[in-house]
Amino acid sequence: MKIETKCLHEGWKPKNGEAHALPIYQSTTFNYDSTEHIGDLFDLKAEGYFYTRLANPTVGFVEEKIAALEGGVGCMCTSSGQAANMIALLNIMGAGDHMICASEVYGGTINLFGVTLEKLGIECTFVDQNAPDSELEKAFRPNTKLVFGETIANPAISVFDIERFAGLAHRHGVPLIVDNTFATPVLCRPFEFGADIVTHSTSKYMDGHAVQLGGAIVDSGNFDWKDYPGLTQPDESYHGVTYTETFGKLAYITKARAQLMRDIGASPTAHAAFLLNLGLETLALRMERHSANAQAAAEFLAAQPEVEEVNYPGLKDDRYYGLGQKYLPKGASGVVSFSLKEGREAAVKFMDSLELASNVVHVATVKTCVLHPASETHRQLSDEQLIAAGITPGMIRLSVGIENIDDIIKDLEKGFRAVR
Ligand SMILES: *Cc1c(COP(=O)(O)O)cnc(C)c1O
Repeated sequence: MKIETKCLHEGWKPKNGEAHALPIYQSTTFNYDSTEHIGDLFDLKAEGYFYTRLANPTVGFVEEKIAALEGGVGCMCTSSGQAANMIALLNIMGAGDHMICASEVYGGTINLFGVTLEKLGIECTFVDQNAPDSELEKAFRPNTKLVFGETIANPAISVFDIERFAGLAHRHGVPLIVDNTFATPVLCRPFEFGADIVTHSTSKYMDGHAVQLGGAIVDSGNFDWKDYPGLTQPDESYHGVTYTETFGKLAYITKARAQLMRDIGASPTAHAAFLLNLGLETLALRMERHSANAQAAAEFLAAQPEVEEVNYPGLKDDRYYGLGQKYLPKGASGVVSFSLKEGREAAVKFMDSLELASNVVHVATVKTCVLHPASETHRQLSDEQLIAAGITPGMIRLSVGIENIDDIIKDLEKGFRAVR
């Protein structure tokens, strides 16, 4: 099946007389005839559901679909994207370990890695993702356990050179984890370029309608965990199971569920998974329209004299055009950022004069929305600090929706009239 078809037909496959739509298993627990059967479930000897914190059928069907979309061997959904990234890391790291992360990743991720995980004794080195290999090599240490980046970073809209970073990580015997939220598997499948684990905030395009927070971790099944004792040694907290021995290619994702989801409990509800599945059904169609609209909006913006700079990998003179052609040949997704020459006040005036675009702290949803990092998400920073973070005071992040492009451009024209 092609990806458009998988969006609809992977996961729940109803048999004769069963519900056409994915059923919601609104139950915390599941019935069995014998104590022995439940014992086997606990020992991971039998497959089945026993408690929704660990697994639920509705969630399970959506996990199957996401694994199929990414081309992975297994997936685990979480209650948010933050939870997905945290569990993806803690599954193979602990106090005393070190990781490397591209510095342009989502702000929430920077806080998680740089503040909260640091308190747990995990050190993170943030690197310039455009630095040459010789420079990046210096960031590796004997205790480095993974490398992390985002396919399309937010709000810089930079494209991550997945193949190059996978090569670097593998030369040091560590996996590459890629947050594929903005691209979605419709536009880029990081496993095809050597990434080992993919994470998502499904709250964005996968859900698509700004209704349900969620996250996902997908395992390619390709990484050899030989230097990760947590996977190759018996887990005493799980009846002495050795994940690599018992589960082979599914070792990583099984451990994430059996150990970390058990202990942390950041599991999605059945209803959340049902909503996510509705979003996934139209994901391919939406990503096509988001990308086409964003391309047209970016070209329109680039032609306006008030605009200092537009960041969109689909533009021929964008810094990331080359990487965009390689990793995002079907479209560069729906998020564009641009700066007004007149700076902060002009950006605020521009945003406040828009009527169609919603002013919200969200991206990657069906309706067009805008955000002014300097006065919203990054308002604690001075103008100098903003520039150091790659954000100009006049920068606007435009998340292009699936409305008719003529209406989106008409709305942007209102913004330009206000600042002219
Ligand atoms: C939003 C986002 C997250 C965090 O996800 P939540 O679902 O909001 O917890 C992580 N990574 C990226 C790239 C995001 O855009």
